[in-house]
Amino acid sequence: MAFLPFNIAKNKQLKVVIAGGGYAGLAALTNLLQFAPDTEITIIDPRPHHIKITHLHETFRYPLSDLLVPFETIEERYGCRHIQASLQIDPEALQSYQEKKQLVINDETVEFDYLIIAAGCESKTADSEKASNVLTLSDFMGASGADLLSARLNDHDLPAPSITVIGGGATGIQFLFEIRQYLLRVNRKVKLTLVHSGKHVLEQFPGGFGTYVESRMDDMDIDFYPNTYFCEQQADQVLLTDKETKTQRVLSSNLAILFLGKKQQNTFSANAFGQILVDQEPLHNIFIAGDCSQFQSLGSNTLTAQSAVRKGKLVARNILRHAGFPGLLEPYLHHELGYVVSLGAADAVGWLVAESNIITGIPALTIKELVEAQYDLLLAGIDTYVV
Ligand SMILES: Cc1cc2nc3c(=O)[nH]c(=O)nc-3n(C[C@H](O)[C@H](O)[C@H](O)COP(=O)(O)OP(=O)(O)OC[C@H]3O[C@@H](n4cnc5c(N)ncnc54)[C@H](O)[C@@H]3O)c2cc1C
Repeated sequence: MAFLPFNIAKNKQLKVVIAGGGYAGLAALTNLLQFAPDTEITIIDPRPHHIKITHLHETFRYPLSDLLVPFETIEERYGCRHIQASLQIDPEALQSYQEKKQLVINDETVEFDYLIIAAGCESKTADSEKASNVLTLSDFMGASGADLLSARLNDHDLPAPSITVIGGGATGIQFLFEIRQYLLRVNRKVKLTLVHSGKHVLEQFPGGFGTYVESRMDDMDIDFYPNTYFCEQQADQVLLTDKETKTQRVLSSNLAILFLGKKQQNTFSANAFGQILVDQEPLHNIFIAGDCSQFQSLGSNTLTAQSAVRKGKLVARNILRHAGFPGLLEPYLHHELGYVVSLGAADAVGWLVAESNIITGIPALTIKELVEAQYDLLLAGIDTYVV
């Protein structure tokens, strides 16, 4: 299917706007330029840089700057343009973009032949997150984990402080193990607790993931409260509620770090080819990819970089097909070939090829590094993704 033709007229220089320069947006950018180098591309993104967010938990070991690719560099590398702004994305605005084939951003009118929405998916928030002793994923996008944690621990110059991590999904677990190992490296005695609303951690993955991770948490002296909701972080304690009995529980805690998962709002459905659906009808010149999209097809809609990249590549190819003759589009059929959750610098748990094929330790870490290296190559303009 990936080889369906793109017969684009030679004298036609397409104008494409990509709203969101994350994994899906940049995969679309590199694929458009691979097959149609003359395409005029504008990226709209409120950030000054692309963030290689799949490494974010590693900023307890490496500087955050290692994960940031300034859009200026992307402009130079690919001859595209970046507008630092946030595009309004709602059904009414999308209808208007489709009708006018233009949008207004920072008081400038930008015309396009095609628009790609690749704005990702925001994290869920909690009421108390603005407190100084609460951190969320967005804090880690502005400063490295090591700097954030050392500043908070120095604020509370206590002999034995305690940290509560909320959320036992993939992001929470990856941060939890990095935090434990960072505290060991800097020789800080801190009580570390994980609070999770489910019965086991990593419940969206095969059962072996949870069993392995919970036994490693035991080894690393991390307390675990399953079936428990976070209510509020106060000055030196955290309020929790038991999911079943609804009884309240209070734990000593000087800092809460929240990983509550993704908000489902601001996600849009797409047909099998990636054209966005508004009122169940496709907008023919507006495609969508990444965490903000739910494709109505047999392909995988998981909120992962792997799916985001595949959707981004697919919509790039489909835009070129739509612009040409005979205009036959390719459906989204990608299925994940594996997923690895890292557990610090020297351990990981994952599955490869089949969900029953669970791997741990260095082999799992090696696979994760290979996948990350493949994405780095894509950013450098070398597409090594076979499927
Ligand atoms: C710590 C961590 C580790 C992870 N590890 C893995 C992993 O190992 N493997 C894996 O497959 N996945 C992993 N993921 C998930 C993966 O990062 C996401 O699925 C992926 O980033 C989704 O790509 P995206 O392009 O849809 O969104 P993003 O990468 O989030 O990019 C969205 C972009 O859109 C921009 N934007 C937002 N709103 C607007 C707007 N209105 N207008 C214009 N631009 C906008 C944002 O600034 C951002 O640059 C991890 C996530 C985290 C947080």
